[in-house]
Amino acid sequence: MRIAEDFAALYGTAPEGIWEAPGRVNLIGEYTDFNGGFVMPLALPHTAVAAVSRRTDGVLRLHSADMDGGVVQLRVDELAPLSGAGWAAYPVGVVWALREAGHAVTGADIHLTSTVPTGAGLSSSAALEVVTALALNDLYELGLSREQLAVTGQRAENAFVGVPCGIMDQTASASCTDGHVLHLDTRDLSRRQIPFDLAGRGLRLLVVDTRVKHALGDGAYAERRAGCEAGARALGVRALREVAHVQLPDALACLSDETVRRYVRHVVTDNHRVGQVVALLDAGDVRAVGPVLTEGHSSLRDDLRVSCPELDLVVAAANAAGALGARMTGGGFGGSAIVLVEAAEADMVAKSVTEAFSAAGYSAPRIFPAVPSAGARRLTHGFAPGLTHGLK
Ligand code: ADP
Ligand code: MG
Repeated sequence: MRIAEDFAALYGTAPEGIWEAPGRVNLIGEYTDFNGGFVMPLALPHTAVAAVSRRTDGVLRLHSADMDGGVVQLRVDELAPLSGAGWAAYPVGVVWALREAGHAVTGADIHLTSTVPTGAGLSSSAALEVVTALALNDLYELGLSREQLAVTGQRAENAFVGVPCGIMDQTASASCTDGHVLHLDTRDLSRRQIPFDLAGRGLRLLVVDTRVKHALGDGAYAERRAGCEAGARALGVRALREVAHVQLPDALACLSDETVRRYVRHVVTDNHRVGQVVALLDAGDVRAVGPVLTEGHSSLRDDLRVSCPELDLVVAAANAAGALGARMTGGGFGGSAIVLVEAAEADMVAKSVTEAFSAAGYSAPRIFPAVPSAGARRLTHGFAPGLTHGLK
C-alpha cells in the first residue's frame, strides 16, 4: 500500500496500522443539527486514509501527502486550543481532545492523504478528525464507541480548531454504513440506519461540487446559529427542534423579528422534511424523495438565505433537465449540491448542469455519484511483505 511506504519513507518504520474515514453528503435536514433536530447523512466512497504508529515520548508528528510544508512536530503536553497549526489543527485537536478527556495518548506518528474534496461541503475536516480518533482509539485501546469518537472529533473542531460545527459530520463519518442513510437525532444521538438502495431502484444521487466558496459563509453560520437561538428563546423552548410542524403558524405569529421568523420557519420545516423522507424511504418510495429535496433547497435559499447563485443554478438546471429533485447540501455559500435522478438520465442531467454553468460564465462543476458507503474502518490488508513487520 502506497501510504505505508510513504509512512516508512517519512518516519523510518512501517506504520502500526492504516485506517480510513469517509466524507459525507447530507440527504436532508440542513442547519438542523445545532437546533437539536434530525439529519440524514450518507457516507461517500471518498475517504481520508491515515497510517499511524504510537509513540511513548510525548512527540506528535504529522504529515499530509496533500499539503506542502513537510512534517509538523509538536509535543502532546504543550497543545493549546486555537493555536493555529493550519491543516494539522484537525488531527492535533483530536489528540488534544482525547487527552483532555483523560486518555493517556503519549504521542503518534501520522501520515495521511484524502480523496475527499476539501472545502466543498463534503466534510473533509470531519474525515480527518474521525480517522485520527479511530486510529488512536484502536492503538491505545481506549474502548471508545463510534458515538464517542464523533463527539471527540466535534470537540476538536469546536474547541481546538475554533469552528462551531454541529455533530452531524463526525457522526456520519464514524457511523454510516454501506448502502444506508443515517437517520440521526442530534439531541440524544439516537440513530437508525435506513436502507438507501439507489442502484437497485434504477436511481442515482449526483454530487455537484460547484468549486466555489463565497467568503460570506464564514460569519453566516454563526449568525444563523445566533438567530435560531434567539428564536428558541423567544418561543420559550430549549431548541427549535421542540417546535412541531403543526405548531409553526402559532410560533411564527409570536415572533416579531422578520429574520428570526424566516430562520425558525426553515428549521421547523426542514426537520419536518426529514420525517417525510424517512416515511418515504420506509415505504420504498425513493423517487418521491426528489420533490422534498427541492422544497428543502427553496427553504435554504429563501428563508435561511445560505444558498448562492451557483447552487441555485445547479438545482434549477438539474430539475429543468428532468431530475427528480435537488438541493444544496452542507453549509452553503458554495460547496456542493445533490441531485436525485433516474440512473438512465444521470449523464444527460449532469451535462445540462455543466452546460448551464458554462452559459452563466461559471467554471465547470465537478460531478460524481454519491454511492452510500461505509463509515470509518481499519484497513490492515494490502501491505508489501517487507512492510508488514510490526503491524498489529
Ligand atoms: P470541508 O470539511 O467542507 O471540506 P473545512 O473548511 O471544514 O471544509 O475543512 C477543510 C480543511 O481541512 C482544509 O482547509 C485543511 O485544513 C483540512 N484538510 C482536509 N483534507 C486534508 C488533507 N488531505 N490534508 C490536510 N488537510 C486537510
Ligand atoms: Mg468541515
